[in-house]
Amino acid sequence: MMARSDKAFSADIPALARAIRAGERATLARAITLIESKRPDHQKAARALVQELLPTTGRAIRVGITGMPGVGKSTTIDALGTFLTGQGHKVAVLTVDPSSSRTGGSILGDKTRMARLAADPNAFIRPSPAAGTLGGVASKTRETLLLAEAAGFDVVLVETVGIGQSEITVADMTDFFLVLMLPGAGDELQGLKKGVVELAEMIAVNKADGDNVFRANAAAAEYRAALHILSPRSENWAPPVITYSALTGAGIADLWRHVLAHRAVLEKSGEFDQRRREQQVKWMWTMIEERLIGRLKSDPAVKARLPALEAAVAEGRLSPAVAAEEIAQALGA
Ligand code: GDP
Repeated sequence: MMARSDKAFSADIPALARAIRAGERATLARAITLIESKRPDHQKAARALVQELLPTTGRAIRVGITGMPGVGKSTTIDALGTFLTGQGHKVAVLTVDPSSSRTGGSILGDKTRMARLAADPNAFIRPSPAAGTLGGVASKTRETLLLAEAAGFDVVLVETVGIGQSEITVADMTDFFLVLMLPGAGDELQGLKKGVVELAEMIAVNKADGDNVFRANAAAAEYRAALHILSPRSENWAPPVITYSALTGAGIADLWRHVLAHRAVLEKSGEFDQRRREQQVKWMWTMIEERLIGRLKSDPAVKARLPALEAAVAEGRLSPAVAAEEIAQALGA
């Protein structure tokens, strides 16, 4: 919760920015709380802060991670994150989970899921902002990502539950989208949403340890075949399929090697910068749309007519086009 010193806290943006750039974790955490606040004055301060910090953002390697519950996302992030801090990196872990709520019921973002990393002074774990629309949760995660970069975190891992459109959203804010899979017998394409695989920069089959190694390799072969028939996101990068074990750590270094190779290839071709630029512009439009929809729904004239219009459309008495026109007219658009 915000402290009573809110006003003073949000007023001195340059001081706040300086403290974040100096890597002060407590300030970073408070600034993220400011970003997540719904209060208009906080939102205004948060916008100013992000703008102030913008020149010191953009330097991290941003990796999106998805996979079904139980696939080993938290174990993987714990292992990968610890591997990376061991190499001298500073690692931030963020989550996009529209189902989350600070009072419980969250699928992701529980610090205890990543015990080693949570105790690591070079790691920063921030649970998903409390439940809201996916767009709302995502925009706060994006701004948190920028803040973490300004604070010196040079690897940002963004985890998602894979509900609805959340994978696309995370792919849109990261450079490398990693899809985790389980070794499976015969049902290798289990839960494999085609749209998600099309976003993948890499598929990694986890739990390739003990008795599972054979099945993990078989699953990887199936995924390789499946990927062949999809057109990759980049003509310069054919998504690899690897096996690893988050539990033993075998293959974690190899996993990271692919992330770095992808970065090198895309930087060389110019795609890296282009993609970041496109992501920025797309983000702007997403925010414009959110704000316009928000304003529309809170407009008194629209609010008064909406229930009747919706009912008429639902019952087939009114065409959606005519209803949309009426709403636009009520808005004066
Ligand atoms: P999440 O729901 O995707 O975050 O999955 P978790 O990281 O919580 O892992 C789910 C279960 O799988 C836990 O019991 C883990 O101990 C186990 N697990 C995770 N990674 C591995 C692995 O590499 N090998 C084995 N054998 N078990 C694993």
